[in-house]
Amino acid sequence: MRATKIYGPGDIRVEEVADPAQQTGIDAVVRVVAACVCGSDLWPYRGITPTEEPRKIGHEFVGIVESVGSEVQKVAVGDFVIAPFYDCDMSCVNCLNGVSTSCLNGGWWDGAQAEKVYVPHADGSLVKTPSAPSAEQIPSLLALSDVMGTGHHAAVSAGVKPGSTVVVVGDGAVGLCAVLAAKRLGAARIIAMSRHESRQALAREFGATDIVAERGDEGVAAVKELLDGIGADCVLEAVGTEESMDQAIRSARPGGMVGYVGVPNGGLSCPFAHSLRPMLV
Ligand SMILES: [Zn+2]
Repeated sequence: MRATKIYGPGDIRVEEVADPAQQTGIDAVVRVVAACVCGSDLWPYRGITPTEEPRKIGHEFVGIVESVGSEVQKVAVGDFVIAPFYDCDMSCVNCLNGVSTSCLNGGWWDGAQAEKVYVPHADGSLVKTPSAPSAEQIPSLLALSDVMGTGHHAAVSAGVKPGSTVVVVGDGAVGLCAVLAAKRLGAARIIAMSRHESRQALAREFGATDIVAERGDEGVAAVKELLDGIGADCVLEAVGTEESMDQAIRSARPGGMVGYVGVPNGGLSCPFAHSLRPMLV
């Protein structure tokens, strides 16, 4: 099959690689219908994180089950499935505690920007759609593989509830999905921090009540001005840099909560980098 591989900064190639094959009774092979590029793929692409050796890349995909192990019960050959951005069994203690990103038996996909993906835990990881989606529905379903779930996780982790005041730091796909999630959860005020006109428009369409384009001290001042000088009940951080985390923490009211889902890239200077796997908030 063909798969994308990253060799280094700005160097991504499509190459022939071995097809994945069934290995256990609980696995599956999925033929990819659509995959996309995550913001976290851009760190190695830009050379901000090093690529030690060439590797397959990508972790957001939807597709059709091509084969399953003999013990798989929830999906069958031919099902259209959505994968999360990682493999998980949904039966270990971390999965049962709702933190399947820290599955004791799971891991990251071996490259999803490929024609096929090997899924070690088919029943735990794959979610089938009730019926085969139309072509128009596929991009929306693809958003469920990472960005929408991640935005929602930021919102529930920050405790968004009906009436909450919310600040969303970051206007990429996850940030915009975090706006949608906050709206769904009933937030009364949603302030999107965005400097891009087209994304500001989308944020408003998704439920943002206010836009703040400023950053740093000016951004914090603008947020507080909108929120009676106090700050937000809930801040959803969807960037992952030291600056964005600083922005998030300082935009929260005393006792407010920050839901943190941006992939940390601040190196040792970012005190939260260690918490990516445990998904602490
Ligand atoms: Zn697990």
